[in-house]
Amino acid sequence: MSLQERIDQTIRNVPDFPKPGIQFKDITPILEDPKLSEEVVAAFAQFWKGKVDAIAGVESRGFLFGFPLAMQLNVPFILIRKKGKLPYQTVSYKYDLEYGSAEIEMHVGAVKDGMNVLIHDDLLATGGTAGAAAELIKKEGGKVAGFSFLVELEFLKGADKLSSYSDVVQRIVS
Ligand code: IMP
Repeated sequence: MSLQERIDQTIRNVPDFPKPGIQFKDITPILEDPKLSEEVVAAFAQFWKGKVDAIAGVESRGFLFGFPLAMQLNVPFILIRKKGKLPYQTVSYKYDLEYGSAEIEMHVGAVKDGMNVLIHDDLLATGGTAGAAAELIKKEGGKVAGFSFLVELEFLKGADKLSSYSDVVQRIVS
């Protein structure tokens, strides 16, 4: 069985979470399988090796594979978090959601001028979150090297939304 098929079979589909009518893709069963987790990191690493100066992971599931990937590629890992969670000085970006808005932050100085940054998260849905992360990287003088996700919900066409930042969008399962 391919890695894609094994991941697809391991992810748990949870109906009506967090709201009725939404089927949530729960990646936590992958974390219970260290061998599969290692293969996931290796698949990301193979794709991005030598192409990025840093990896920015989006809270919170973007930290799970993002940090091991950064260690494997021997590049810095940057945390992008929801407003109010990071202790030091931050730079923030506010973006619109279907209802209301959200704000994400990153530590000042984490992105160096001209740094080629990979934005990583567990799942790509509408692309709103990853796009906001890209804005934050650009605001700090970085370049968006591309995006990587474990899963893409293809029908939501999130990659289209990201194309103004980069055409390089890796997804292991879509
Ligand atoms: P987007 O901004 O619409 O692309 O939503 C992506 C963000 O929401 C990511 O940070 C995901 O972690 C989270 N997300 C949305 N739906 C799911 C899901 O079904 N499983 C896991 N995370 C999800």
